[in-house]
Amino acid sequence: MTPQKTTAPVDMIIVGAGFAGLYQLYRARRMGLSVKLLEAGDGVGGTWYWNRYPGARCDVESLDYSYSFSEELQQEWNWSERYAPQAEILRYINHVADRFDLRKDIQLETRVASANFDDASARWTVITEAGERFDGQYLIMATGCLSIPQPPDFKGLETFKGDWYHSANWPREGVDFAGKRVGLIGTGSSGVQMTPVIAEQAAHLTVFQRTANFSVPAQNEPLTEATLAHVKAHYAERRALGREAVTGQFLSANDKSALEVSDEDRLKEFEFRWRGAGGGFRMLRAFNDLMRNPIANQYAGDFVRGKIRATVKDPVKAEILCPKPDLPFGTKRLCVDTHYYETFNRDNVDLVDVKAHPITEITPTGLRTTQGHHELDAIVFATGFDAMTGALLAMDIRGTGGQSLREKWAAGPRTYLGVSIAGFPNLFVIAGPGSPSVLSNVVHSIETHVDWISNFIEHSRSRGTRRIEAEQAHEDQWVDHVNEVANQTLYPVGNSWYLGANMPGKPRVFMPYVAGVPAYRRIIEGVAEKNYEGFAQA
Ligand code: NAP
Repeated sequence: MTPQKTTAPVDMIIVGAGFAGLYQLYRARRMGLSVKLLEAGDGVGGTWYWNRYPGARCDVESLDYSYSFSEELQQEWNWSERYAPQAEILRYINHVADRFDLRKDIQLETRVASANFDDASARWTVITEAGERFDGQYLIMATGCLSIPQPPDFKGLETFKGDWYHSANWPREGVDFAGKRVGLIGTGSSGVQMTPVIAEQAAHLTVFQRTANFSVPAQNEPLTEATLAHVKAHYAERRALGREAVTGQFLSANDKSALEVSDEDRLKEFEFRWRGAGGGFRMLRAFNDLMRNPIANQYAGDFVRGKIRATVKDPVKAEILCPKPDLPFGTKRLCVDTHYYETFNRDNVDLVDVKAHPITEITPTGLRTTQGHHELDAIVFATGFDAMTGALLAMDIRGTGGQSLREKWAAGPRTYLGVSIAGFPNLFVIAGPGSPSVLSNVVHSIETHVDWISNFIEHSRSRGTRRIEAEQAHEDQWVDHVNEVANQTLYPVGNSWYLGANMPGKPRVFMPYVAGVPAYRRIIEGVAEKNYEGFAQA
């Protein structure tokens, strides 16, 4: 690769054109900054551009999983369902790009290979895989937490004569499974969402499950005109409630311990959250100690196991689908489904426990486990992502004195406030490790970060400083604090991607900040009020 000539310098370079990158671009423009946004895909949308698998939809309600920064936008856009499908979310993001005239600063099909900070000029040079160079004062990583798919690493895959797909790299034209025998590997959120849809299309579906995860019904439904009109008339109140909710989405949290109520009342609360008016992540807010107290947690786990056994008619399948005691409820990201467990009652759906009988190889005509061979025409991998750090470490990012982020994070990610990294001045990460991020309504967390970063940059420029850098001591304290609050919960017990446990060889560090959106916002606002305490500004 021969580096090409540097394009005109800009104030800000943004990497990624998903929810985060687009809003950062909008804010930077309004601050009068010159901006270049670089995006690997050939369209905007980030996660919603890549993840086009059958059944893909958000699992945070669309009325919340949407931008709040523009009253006009939230009044004019009509979501069709409580949880919008991928295509609709992608239309929304494209609408935002057009409505705010964002495209003129976006360069598509441009994957960043490296970024280097120059101490003398306090500027970043970004080099793309095609060798193009960009020069910017601020570098904003809007690269997403789940954007680097875990590549399928199965012996013999290259010999398979059928077609195979990864959930996060789905063919744009879609896939027709009619008449096919399909194998699906992976039962996280992606696998759980696609199982019922593929089961309806395919001649036969075999789900290969390694770890039984907890899934709760979304209770998805169309949004009526009356509901939309009501929400729009009270949108400010809805957003305000979201800001004060632990996850950035109002889910009527119950502030009681699961241990302080009668068995009957406990069951009633769980039922309420499982059924129509409830649904989705409301289950996690049924009691205030589900993620802290193992007994409270077990009550929730037993409730869901009871639902699985009541739904799945074949008792052998039901037992395989029941999460085991070594996975506390909610410690792997809760799946939110539509008819997932019911799907295993179909005649054309089989379930294989690949924890008990591991996959040994992919063959030209299917897949072999230690128990036998399965003939397949197509294989779908819903095997997840190199989460939270994958996209950042895929680039060679070098800060002061040429230090590499890969080296700095060799034992796990370290940030100050989840937004800045000591030794990497003028670089900000949106919704990254060390912030509520993936444990929250991420669009809300994105807006919080973009507003905070933008205000900080405006503040710095108004004071004539050119360089903003997190101080090492403050970063160390923040990392300790993030670990301390995580260790007060059951989260680190589950072998989840929150911990990096899904990637062989990845350091096990609990990456998101668990104290919740309001507590986090108060901390970062407090830092700002103290002239951005913990940051050197020169
Ligand atoms: P995931 O949660 O990491 O699930 C990956 C699945 O693949 C797990 O069941 C895992 O089993 C299995 N797996 C991985 N390698 C395997 C192997 N070698 N053999 C057998 N099984 C293997 O990935 P995901 O489902 O793509 O979801 C990732 C995250 O993306 C979600 O947690 C969520 O945050 C987000 N997401 C959101 C939505 C939404 O908003 N609706 C939809 C999809 C995804 P183990 O558990 O045993 O490792």
